[in-house]
Amino acid sequence: MMRAVQLTEIGKALKDADVPVPQIGPSDVLIRVAAAGICHSDVHYRAGISKIDDLPLTLGHEIAGHVEEVGSNVTQFSAGDRVCVHYLVHCGSCEFCVLGLEQFCRSGQMIGKHRDGGYAEFIKVPGANAFLLPDEIPFEVGAIMMCSSATALHALKKARFKAGESIAIFGFGGLGFSALQLALAFDCGDVYVVEINPAKLATAANMGAITVDAKTADPVAQIKEATAGRGVDVALELIGSAKTMRQAVLCLGPLGRAALVGLTAESISIFPYTELINKEAEIIGVSDHLATELPALPEFARSGKLRFPPETLRVVDLDAAQINAALDALQDSIDHVRTVIVPRV
Ligand SMILES: [Zn+2]
Ligand SMILES: [Zn+2]
Repeated sequence: MMRAVQLTEIGKALKDADVPVPQIGPSDVLIRVAAAGICHSDVHYRAGISKIDDLPLTLGHEIAGHVEEVGSNVTQFSAGDRVCVHYLVHCGSCEFCVLGLEQFCRSGQMIGKHRDGGYAEFIKVPGANAFLLPDEIPFEVGAIMMCSSATALHALKKARFKAGESIAIFGFGGLGFSALQLALAFDCGDVYVVEINPAKLATAANMGAITVDAKTADPVAQIKEATAGRGVDVALELIGSAKTMRQAVLCLGPLGRAALVGLTAESISIFPYTELINKEAEIIGVSDHLATELPALPEFARSGKLRFPPETLRVVDLDAAQINAALDALQDSIDHVRTVIVPRV
């Protein structure tokens, strides 16, 4: 048996549970969890905003740890290897998987949503979902890289972001924190961070961004003024609000691309001729990320281009009370400190 923290009822606190250690199949690896990130998506699962089909469920999709056991068909890992986990389990053979577009897999499953996740001592995942984590990268960093950093990287790729281009990042939470560092790693031109939170604006400024305080004046006007009326090449919307999505489109210059990452059910309005067609701008949807993109992240972390200083990480035990408190805090997050579960041994 092992300890796990599970969602047993929508809208209720997670609970401590004792569950069997997962039995692995021939293509699986069993990982002893060393770190599991607590993500804003988990708040949505607990609250019932994102639908969970089968309960009880062990949450947690940001996972790093040691390989404990490998299936007979898994040749790329052996027991003791340090790994982090790609959270989309896919079939590998459908029309999308063969193109390397596993986020559209016909039978895809998200770890910690459609199958048990990493709020546990052990997790079973297909060998194809495990990626080696270099010794110099802490497990806590490996875990959270696999969600927010991976999605920020995918957003930059979807926006076809190139060296020298200017970029506006709307929202400086977990995604924005990675997006700024990755944009700088790609040798971006000017990078604007749009926020209303003074502490986040101060951090962004320290990290090399030109800050745009959306509380003091219209962010589009501020970006237009700073770019002599031209606008930016790329805008990332990481908040999930119709208002900032519209602003992300309006701050673009000619041939600009707005990548929408934040989730909302609201509709946005755009005047096609004057706001899109005229400047041949593009609006691009971004969903999750791809296995092929992930190996770049440990490299950015190893070279110091992607950093999560200790003051940006908080550690809790594999304990329902501590995890529920962290989820409560995330609900009205005011900083970009990420909480990571480190099970005590
Ligand atoms: Zn996440
Ligand atoms: Zn597939």
